[in-house]
Amino acid sequence: MTTLDQRLDNERTNALNFLSTAADADAVEALRVAVLGRNGSLTALLRELPSVPADERPAAGRLANEVRGEVEGAIQARLDELHSAAMEDLLAADALDMTDPGRPVRIGHLHPIMTVERDFREIFHSFGFEVFEGPEIETEWWNFEALNIAPDHPSRDLWDTLYVAEPGSVEAGEPRPAEDGTILRTHTSPAQIRAMQALTPPIRVITPGRCYRNDAVDASHNFEFFQVEGLVVDRDTSLADLKGMLEEFARALYGEGTRTRFRPGYYPFTEPSVAFDIGCLVCGGPGCPACGRSGWMTILGAGMVHPVVLRAGGLDPDEFQGYAFGMGLDRITLLRHGIPDLRLLMGADLRFLEQFNGGR
Ligand SMILES: [Zn+2]
Repeated sequence: MTTLDQRLDNERTNALNFLSTAADADAVEALRVAVLGRNGSLTALLRELPSVPADERPAAGRLANEVRGEVEGAIQARLDELHSAAMEDLLAADALDMTDPGRPVRIGHLHPIMTVERDFREIFHSFGFEVFEGPEIETEWWNFEALNIAPDHPSRDLWDTLYVAEPGSVEAGEPRPAEDGTILRTHTSPAQIRAMQALTPPIRVITPGRCYRNDAVDASHNFEFFQVEGLVVDRDTSLADLKGMLEEFARALYGEGTRTRFRPGYYPFTEPSVAFDIGCLVCGGPGCPACGRSGWMTILGAGMVHPVVLRAGGLDPDEFQGYAFGMGLDRITLLRHGIPDLRLLMGADLRFLEQFNGGR
């Protein structure tokens, strides 16, 4: 054996030994560079071949090629081994046991406010009403002017409005209301104007939806709340129709024996306006803290649609009359379940909300 043969043989032994224990692909790559790279140890030996005596050169060349091939093959084999070991670890960690019993699918349920809204849809559907939904982002015209609430109308103070900022003004650090009067609607009444403009009388719609006011959050207020309003427009509607319809509604919602009464009320968009009360759901009449000791609870406001509002809806008040009513879904939901604080209903505590899983 020549010196070169000996060194080639050592090279092979060292490389194969190293590879058999190489822990990862990085270690294998480091060896490949150290042995087969441009400045690698085996590469250096190959460069010595031309100086081997001519009669020994063919055998030395064969050995050199053999060693290089063997080292290359061992490198690839070790890489394959490491790769499949890593795959096995991954699969073991991720193993899917096909004999494991399935996990039950967790189905949510409607929020109690939405359950009340669905009930309203059903009740009013049976009275011949259809659902007409309007956008939650409106302009002051739809939300106020069209509903007979002029810019300087004192009643506008009743609606603490959340204004949408003028584009760019927030980024500039000087937020101001949008010049086109874009706001978050403070009631679902703008949908009544939209219904009058979109539909041809006779109109019978309810307009359920989410509304917003700049209210501090307490036991009975939130900046976000739900309303359902109803609108009927025809050639000969009257306050008597409104009263009959609401009395039927109260019985459908609270039972046949429900006591009801009407009181005079005030709203800019109806004339005359009424407040609609039902007998107290807590004490049933004698008076208690829940009803302010009156025996009655106000559940909605209503009235005959104001001529200004009919005109905003594109209808001639001499030809058409209508009545409208509106109520807060949140309050009715609180009453239904005897919940004392609106914040419980609007919070995201599932321990509370899951009590109201009525199976839908
Ligand atoms: Zn009471």
